[in-house]
Amino acid sequence: MKPPPFAYLRPSSLEEACALLAEHGEDARLLAGGQSLIPALNFRLAMPEVLIDLHQLPDLRQLAPTPDGGLDIGAMCTQRAAECSRLVARQTPLLHMALPFVAHVPIRTRGTVGGSLAHNDPAAELPAVMQVLDATYHVHSHRGTRRLAATEFGLDLFTTALAPDEILTRIHIPRLASSHRVGYGFQEFARRHGDYALAGAAAFMSTEDGQTCARCRLAWFGLADGAIMAERLPAAACGQPVDFGHLEAVLADHLQHMPVNADMHADAAYRRHLGRIMGIRALRQAWAQATGTAARAEGAP
Ligand code: FAD
Repeated sequence: MKPPPFAYLRPSSLEEACALLAEHGEDARLLAGGQSLIPALNFRLAMPEVLIDLHQLPDLRQLAPTPDGGLDIGAMCTQRAAECSRLVARQTPLLHMALPFVAHVPIRTRGTVGGSLAHNDPAAELPAVMQVLDATYHVHSHRGTRRLAATEFGLDLFTTALAPDEILTRIHIPRLASSHRVGYGFQEFARRHGDYALAGAAAFMSTEDGQTCARCRLAWFGLADGAIMAERLPAAACGQPVDFGHLEAVLADHLQHMPVNADMHADAAYRRHLGRIMGIRALRQAWAQATGTAARAEGAP
C-alpha cells in the first residue's frame, strides 16, 4: 500500500514546530524515525493531512549528563545512538541492557527514543524501562512547557497524556541511588529476537549491606495495554533480607489480579505465567548485579 497524500513540513526550530502543530491540530502528525508511523500510513491506519518532520531540530537529538548525576536524552535521539552511547551505558545501564531488544539494528538506526515512548505500543520495552528509572518527560507546545512522570505518561493502548499540540522533547533520567550498590535486570520472551515481546520485565534493586533490599522497582511490558508497575513490590521487598520465594508470590498475586491481554500468540494465562517468570528473573538479575553475585543468579528461578 502507498500512504495517503499529505503535506510535508520540516520546521527548523522547536518554536516553529510548535506553531505548526498548533495551526494544524489533529490533522497533523509528528514524524520522528517513521518506523511505526510510516507503516501506519501505508496501511491507512493513520491518515494525517500534514506530517511535521522533527529531523531538523538537532537539539532534540542530544544526550547529556545532568548535574544530579542523571542523564537527559533528546526525544529525537535514535535508539541505536543511545544503545551505542558510553554515557548511556555508564549512567543508565538498564536502558543500555534493554535497547538491543527493540526490533533490529536497521529499525533502531532510524527509530527514536521519543518516538517509541510517544507511540506507546503495549509491548514496547522503553516505556517500562523509563517507569523503572523514574524518568521525567519534558513536553513543549505553543502554550508552554510541562513535565510528566513516566508513570503518568502512558494512558492506554497507543495513547499517551500528550495533547495533540504537544511535542515530547526530552527525557530526564535521574540517578536512582547515590550511596547504594545498585543492580538492574531486563528479561523478555519473544518468539524471535527482535520481535515484539509476548512478555517482559525491567527491574532495579539496590542494597547498602549486600543482604537487605534498600530499593526495588519493576515494570512489565507486553502483558496489558501499556507498561505496568508492580506497585506492591517495593513494600514487600524493601527494608528486609531478599526472599525471592516471597517476591515471586507477590508478583504472581499482582498478575492474577490485573487484566492481561490475550491474542493469537498467547492467552492470558500463558502471559501471566511469562510475566511471573520474566519478573522474578529480572529481580534475580538485578540483585546479583547489586551484590556482585552474577554467577549464582544464572538459570531459571
Ligand atoms: P515514528 O514512527 O516517527 O512515530 C510514532 C508515533 O509517535 C507517531 O504518532 C508520531 O507522531 C509520534 N511521535 C514521534 N515522536 C514524537 C515526539 N517527539 N513527540 C510527540 N509525538 C511523537 N518497538 C519496540 O519497542 N520493540 C520492538 O520489538 C519493536 N519491533 C519492531 C519491529 C518492526 C519490524 C518495526 C517496523 C518496528 C518495531 N518497533 C519496535 C517500533 C520501533 O521501535 C519504532 O521506532 C518506534 O515505535 C517509533 O519510533 P519512531 O521514532 O520511528 O517514531
